[in-house]
Amino acid sequence: MTERNWAGTHTFTAEAVLAPTTIDEARRMVASYDQIRSLGTRHSFNDLADTAGVLLDLTGLDADIVVDEDARTVTVGAGTRYAVVARHLADHGWALHNMGSLPHISVGGATATSTHGSGDGNGSLATAVRALEFITPDGELRTVSAGDADFAGSVVHLGALGPVVRLTLAIEPTYQVRQDTYAGLTWDDLLKRFDEVTASGYSVSVFTRWNTPDVGEVWIKERLDAASAPDMPERVLSARRVRVKADSPAADGVDNTTEQGGIPGDWCERLPHFRIDATPSNGDEIQTEYWVDRAVAVEAVAAVRSIADRVEPALLVTELRTVAADDLWLSPGFGRDSVCIHFTWKNEPDAVREAIANVERVLAPFDPRPHWGKVFSMPIRRFAPASR
Ligand SMILES: Cc1cc2nc3c(=O)[nH]c(=O)nc-3n(C[C@H](O)[C@H](O)[C@H](O)COP(=O)(O)OP(=O)(O)OC[C@H]3O[C@@H](n4cnc5c(N)ncnc54)[C@H](O)[C@@H]3O)c2cc1C
Repeated sequence: MTERNWAGTHTFTAEAVLAPTTIDEARRMVASYDQIRSLGTRHSFNDLADTAGVLLDLTGLDADIVVDEDARTVTVGAGTRYAVVARHLADHGWALHNMGSLPHISVGGATATSTHGSGDGNGSLATAVRALEFITPDGELRTVSAGDADFAGSVVHLGALGPVVRLTLAIEPTYQVRQDTYAGLTWDDLLKRFDEVTASGYSVSVFTRWNTPDVGEVWIKERLDAASAPDMPERVLSARRVRVKADSPAADGVDNTTEQGGIPGDWCERLPHFRIDATPSNGDEIQTEYWVDRAVAVEAVAAVRSIADRVEPALLVTELRTVAADDLWLSPGFGRDSVCIHFTWKNEPDAVREAIANVERVLAPFDPRPHWGKVFSMPIRRFAPASR
């Protein structure tokens, strides 16, 4: 097997990768193998999607996008990339509540791991799921919908539910967003006025390298569908609005980010960091992320900063985002408003392993929950009881 994940950090050990192009073909495949696991666009950084059996790559299934305007939902093939469904929705006057940083990730794979964007009031992308249609081991189709007893345990399923072929998501009328970048936020302001920073827009991302005199950049994405469109301030606390486009968070020197500078655009062209028509270069990176309760976020951020010198050698950039609590059993956001402390590392596994061990050591008192699709080393038994 030479098939790898997107970043090339994991080579799948499965016997084979099957690629059905119709739901019926997928059903026949499921019924004829003992052990099968689903594959999305392979953007997870660890072995989450792997199996000793066979992999079912569902990205070849038809997108077949169906908007139900009365129910305010869209139903779509689970292997469809967010970019495809988002563009379709915007073109037809509709929107999702949020997007992850990368629009190229499949809807089925992203919601399976509780992939998220940012925003104090925004749940993860999984919170938009209203129904899932999946294949049972005998090849039958089954649907779980919001309101069913099993629903909250089925949405963030980490691939364990069986191959999901169709997903229904909540939609709302389309809206415009502007994106502005700010520089020069002091550590004092971030740590003492954290809530003001994250409340400064619909979706706020704070980028840092931990060891710099000031924090770094703040990217603020603001909705323009309020009664009067907000004119963003020149300053957010100590941070100044900058007119020059910020560097890509992938640190690849490529202009692949969505429009900044306050120019309004469709939600799907501002909420992701990366443009639909571009890709963050070659995936030469490793990612890690921990969700902590908002109530202890400032202390958790300060704890990581206290080991900046041990994190920095392996680091490309850290991003801090906020996510609203949900009730999805396996979601890292279950039952608590969260701050997500993310690390994009250099593709240097040994240095990253050491940095992760240090980060997990200082975050341990704050009951961190790892992003399931990124690299972590903490044993599951440490956070499982806390997640009940
Ligand atoms: C450049 C980059 C940027 C990223 N940005 C973000 C971000 O902004 N926010 C964030 O939270 N995460 C982010 N991630 C992580 C990523 O969103 C998650 O790892 C996500 O789960 C990947 O989705 P995928 O379609 O690639 O799924 P895969 O990695 O292929 O699979 C992930 C899991 O979902 C299961 N699965 C996939 N499809 C199906 C299906 N149809 N039916 C049943 N199970 C299925 C798999 O079995 C596996 O368990 C990023 C990753 C990369 C590489």
